Amino acid sequence: MGKPTGFIEFDKKYLERIAPETRVQNYKEFESSFSEPIAKEQGARCMDCGIPFCHGDTGCPVDNLIPEFNDYVYKGKFKEAIENLHSTNNFPEFTGRLCPAPCESACTLGIIGPPVSIKAIERTIIDRAWEEGWVKPQPSEFQSGKKIAIIGSGPAGLAAAQQLARAGHSVTVFEKNEKIGGLLRYGIPDFKMEKHHIDRRQSQMEAEGVIFKTNVNVGKDITANDLMKDFDSVILAMGAEHPRDLPVEGRDLKGVHYAMDFLSRNNRLVDGKEVPDKIMATGKNVIVIGGGDTGSDCVGTSNRHGAKSIKQLEIFPEPPKDRDASTPWPLYPKIYRTSSSHEEGVDRKWAVNTVAFIGNDKGEVQALKGSEVEFKDGKMVPVAGTEFEWPADLVLLAMGFVHPIKDGIISQFQEMGMQVDNRGNVAASFGTKEGSFATSLNKVYACGDVRRGQSLIVWAISEGRKCAEQVHRFLMTEVEA
Ligand SMILES: Cc1cc2nc3c(=O)[nH]c(=O)nc-3n(C[C@H](O)[C@H](O)[C@H](O)COP(=O)(O)OP(=O)(O)OC[C@H]3O[C@@H](n4cnc5c(N)ncnc54)[C@H](O)[C@@H]3O)c2cc1C
Ligand code: SF4
Repeated sequence: MGKPTGFIEFDKKYLERIAPETRVQNYKEFESSFSEPIAKEQGARCMDCGIPFCHGDTGCPVDNLIPEFNDYVYKGKFKEAIENLHSTNNFPEFTGRLCPAPCESACTLGIIGPPVSIKAIERTIIDRAWEEGWVKPQPSEFQSGKKIAIIGSGPAGLAAAQQLARAGHSVTVFEKNEKIGGLLRYGIPDFKMEKHHIDRRQSQMEAEGVIFKTNVNVGKDITANDLMKDFDSVILAMGAEHPRDLPVEGRDLKGVHYAMDFLSRNNRLVDGKEVPDKIMATGKNVIVIGGGDTGSDCVGTSNRHGAKSIKQLEIFPEPPKDRDASTPWPLYPKIYRTSSSHEEGVDRKWAVNTVAFIGNDKGEVQALKGSEVEFKDGKMVPVAGTEFEWPADLVLLAMGFVHPIKDGIISQFQEMGMQVDNRGNVAASFGTKEGSFATSLNKVYACGDVRRGQSLIVWAISEGRKCAEQVHRFLMTEVEA
């Protein structure tokens, strides 16, 4: 374990950040990993609990062996630490930057004070490993002769692809966008994760034999029939891209956009691409509707554009500052969270509902009308006398995603007999038992947001790995028969 008295001797430390007023001048990442002495000290705080809740059911979804890597870091054994970390997580640089860290909410130390800095330690291990040149391709010496098509190159598709290529299968990843990465590339802004992290993994995976085919919209450029004919197994990892709409009066006005249209175009601009239909917040009164990660990314991006004002609206009431009885330790708590984008400046409004967008005579949005709301018997009701009208030149709808896009490949597979669940996601079970992740169509599997609905990167990686294991079992039964 770390140092037996470490949790008493050392306070929790956080990664150093560039100040908000400086970092909003560009799109670069603004946090740096721990120095070695600080990382060792932070690793020393881990108590190596008899029951490590950090990686139990309530903790890390990708099953990271947290007490073990904390101990390696405490002892300065970074090479052993990355081998341990890579044994459960293909891409710790993604989660070490972007994960909301349910492991830390579940850490036993959290009962009496700040938990172990697990996420920052994870990031420090993988950053060091890349710097030292320890992350290398691991091509398989065995070749099964089996061909797998993976649709979608987000974290779920990438994790599945890497696992299956390393197990000796021939893997082709199809991606409709011009570059791989899914929401890591076109949703999450560069200031949260620069995109060279994805490019570096792409090179590693290509050296392991994975073939990436970008600019291929499966369902249009290749059909379900083609896939079934040409591949021994197909994995659907297409995410849940259908955004939740807000069908109120004025929804069609110019200047009311889905958050993903704003964010994806901005990421392309940052990548140096020509974006003819770019959406800019510069000099505008911006209202972001939706209080989650996507909304927060819109806030950070609008600040970098130089917005005049930014409001972020949430329909639910302001959560408590500390854990309350509804989410006791070790559950992930419903508490007031301040993201790095919030630190950079935003006016957050809670328990408010939008009833209409008001336009000018050019058909452009100029204001948002709404009122405060309260919840009675589970129903949302407006609070009389709280109606407001706020100036808005740009409105960004960031209210989540309802399910995957059905038109195209999913409906083609549905015609062959594949089921979707009652939320509209591809129906397949989660788990490690034989048959998990299998859809109702022979040899077709599903993982990540396309199966579980809108979720987290760490879940996508976890599902990609577990799904790969099932596909491997399925294919090897045939190889060994
Ligand atoms: C703006 C935003 C910010 C987020 N921030 C965080 C965060 O900070 N931390 C976190 O943990 N989670 C975050 N999330 C959630 C996280 O990004 C997702 O849960 C995760 O990316 C899901 O991974 P996935 O591989 O299942 O799908 P995706 O990442 O959505 O990837 C699916 C891929 O499939 C491709 N595709 C779809 N249809 C086709 C087709 N027919 N043919 C070919 N390709 C196709 C898509 O283009 C896409 O590249 C965020 C989500 C958003 C929208
Ligand atoms: S719960 Fe916290 S203290 Fe216990 S093993 Fe995990 S990281 Fe260490």
